[in-house]
Amino acid sequence: MRGLYNLGNTCFMNSTLQSLASLDEFNTYADNCVKLLAAGDATANHSADADIAVQLNIVLEQLRPQASRVSAYSPRALVNSLSKKGRWMASRAEQDAQELFQMVSSTLQATMRESDPSLFNADFLANTAPIENSIVSTASSSSSCHSANSAGKHPLRRRCSTSVCGMPPFANPLLGMAASRIACVKCGYTAAIRHFTFDNLSLTVPRARHTTVEECLSMYTVIDQLDDFKCRYCAVAATLAQTMADIQTCRSELAELDAASKRAARKSAALATLIDHQHQLEQALSSNPEAELKGIKLVSPRPGVSTKQTMIARTPKILVLHLSRSIFLPTGDTIKNTAHVRLQPLLDISPFSTTGHINTGASRPISGPGNSSGMASADSYARAQHSNCLYRLNAVVLHTGAHNSGHYVTYRRVLPAADSPSEEKGAKPEQPWVQGGRWFMLSDTETSEVSIDTVLGAGTGYMLFYERI
Ligand SMILES: [Zn+2]
Repeated sequence: MRGLYNLGNTCFMNSTLQSLASLDEFNTYADNCVKLLAAGDATANHSADADIAVQLNIVLEQLRPQASRVSAYSPRALVNSLSKKGRWMASRAEQDAQELFQMVSSTLQATMRESDPSLFNADFLANTAPIENSIVSTASSSSSCHSANSAGKHPLRRRCSTSVCGMPPFANPLLGMAASRIACVKCGYTAAIRHFTFDNLSLTVPRARHTTVEECLSMYTVIDQLDDFKCRYCAVAATLAQTMADIQTCRSELAELDAASKRAARKSAALATLIDHQHQLEQALSSNPEAELKGIKLVSPRPGVSTKQTMIARTPKILVLHLSRSIFLPTGDTIKNTAHVRLQPLLDISPFSTTGHINTGASRPISGPGNSSGMASADSYARAQHSNCLYRLNAVVLHTGAHNSGHYVTYRRVLPAADSPSEEKGAKPEQPWVQGGRWFMLSDTETSEVSIDTVLGAGTGYMLFYERI
C-alpha cells in the first residue's frame, strides 16, 4: 500500500483519498469523468472543477494496490487544484474529511454536467438499481428517463456505444435517494412525500458509551415528533371556520342596514368576497389543501404535533455514512461525542429503506419493517442482497483527538489480486457476503497491515465507505 505525504494538516484529505481509492466503482467513475472531459469541448476542460477531476484521478491511480513496496506519494498537484476553488485548503486546520468528500463528489458531478448536461439526471434514474417500490416508480415516471428500458435510445448509452469514449454507461455510484414525509397528528394530513438525492448520509451518533452503525441508522430513520409544525390542512380548515363566522357576522350587520345605503352596498360586496373565499377553502379541503388560494390570508393555526420520517428509497452502489460526532452545548461550544461505534463487515440497510408500500398515517413508519430480523443467517443476507440493501465495508476514516483538532487515519480493505477480476466482471462468488481481502491502516506516509478485528473494534469511525454487493 502506498502512503500520502502530509502537506501541512492534510491528513483529512489523505484519509478521504485513501478511502475513495479503495472503491472500485468510484475509481471507474472518476476515470470515466476524465475521459468524458477529454472527449468534450475545451472550455469544460479548463475549469477549476475539471482540473480537480484530472488531478484526483491521477492520485487515485497512484493509490492502487502495489505489488511491491513503493515510497509515499505527494498529492501536491491536487492540493493546488483544490486551492483554486475558493477557501479550500486555505485554512486546513479547520478542514474536515466529510466536507472534502462532499466537495470532491459535487465537483465530479459538476464536471459531468458541464461536459454534457443532457446525460445527467436521466442517467442516474436509468442506471441505478431501484428498490422495488412505488416511491421510485412515481419519481421515475415524472423524469425524462422514458428511454430507460431501451438502452439504445438513451443518450448516454448511445454516445458511449458509438465509442466516442469507448466506455460503459456510467452513473454516479455515490448517489442514492431518500424519501421523507411529514404528517399532522391532529388531522392525519400527510404533506407530499419529498424525495432528495444524497451522496452521503450524515448520522447522529447516540450519546452512549457503546453503539452500532445500525443504531445510528435507526436514529436517522426514526419517527421524529415535531411540536412546531404548521399543518396546511389545519390552516385551511381554521381559515374556513373563521370565514364562516365572518359571513355570519356580515349577514346580521347587513340586515340592520338601510338596503339603499352606501354602507349596505359595501357590506354586500364584502359578503360576496367572503362567500367566494368559503368556496375556495371548501374546494381546497376536499381536493388539494396545497392549492393556491386567491386573495385569502390563511389563519395561522396553533402549531400542532406532527411526525417526520426519512427513509432510503433508492440505494446507492457506494454507501457513504458520516458519523456526526458533534455535540452542541448550550454555551455555544461544540465538543466531540466519543461513543464507541462497533462495525460489522456487512451492513443490511433494508430496515431503513422503503420496502414496497407507503404508510401515510402520522404515527406509523413510512413502510413496514425490513426483512433483516435474522441478520446472521445466509438467508437474510440473500434477501437483503436481492433488494439491493446489502453492503460490505470497504474503508473507514477514523478521527482521533479532540473535536477541532486531532488526526485522521484510514482503514482500507484490499482484495487479493486473484479476487478482483472476478468481481469486476460480475462473476460473483457463490457467497458474496463472505469477507475477503486484507486490511491496512494508512496514516499519511505510514502504512501497516491490521486484522479485521482491529478495524471493526476501533470504535472511532468518522466516515464509513460501503460497497453494495
Ligand atoms: Zn393537520
